[in-house]
Amino acid sequence: MRDKEETDIHWMRHALRNAREGGAAKGCNPIGCVIVRDGMVIGEGHNEVGLRRDATAHAEIVAMRRAGAFLRGAELRGATLYSTLQPCGMCGMASIWAKIGRIVYGAGRGDVHDMYFEGRHLNTIDILRDAYRDDTSLCAGVLAQECAALYFPPGADIPKERRYNC
Ligand SMILES: [Zn+2]
Repeated sequence: MRDKEETDIHWMRHALRNAREGGAAKGCNPIGCVIVRDGMVIGEGHNEVGLRRDATAHAEIVAMRRAGAFLRGAELRGATLYSTLQPCGMCGMASIWAKIGRIVYGAGRGDVHDMYFEGRHLNTIDILRDAYRDDTSLCAGVLAQECAALYFPPGADIPKERRYNC
């Protein structure tokens, strides 16, 4: 039996593979996600915003939809969501509504360019911490460097056509 840290690294590597696969798709940020319950993948995906022309098709939402379809229910209690990048406000709230028990992410807000996040003065993680549920736990920085390498670094001069949130 693996300890928790090894388990997190194992699943984050899985999310990284999803991210790299997604990065190959046109117009998609390379963000990957996997949702695991009882040692089994119940949903996974990568960012499909450009692919689907759907602003809500973030990796986490794609994975949650698949998990819901797989379980035939929207509640993902007891599941852990792994994402290569700190979830945005939308995905953070969706995790709350889905009753996901634990959120683990790789690169955090300080590791990447601002354009990946929606607010200049608020941090998504504060939204999660302030949410009405107090049984969602957070774990940041699993394989953070490997994950951050997929994204533009803080302060990078990004070509206009590759900016998504400006
Ligand atoms: Zn998101």
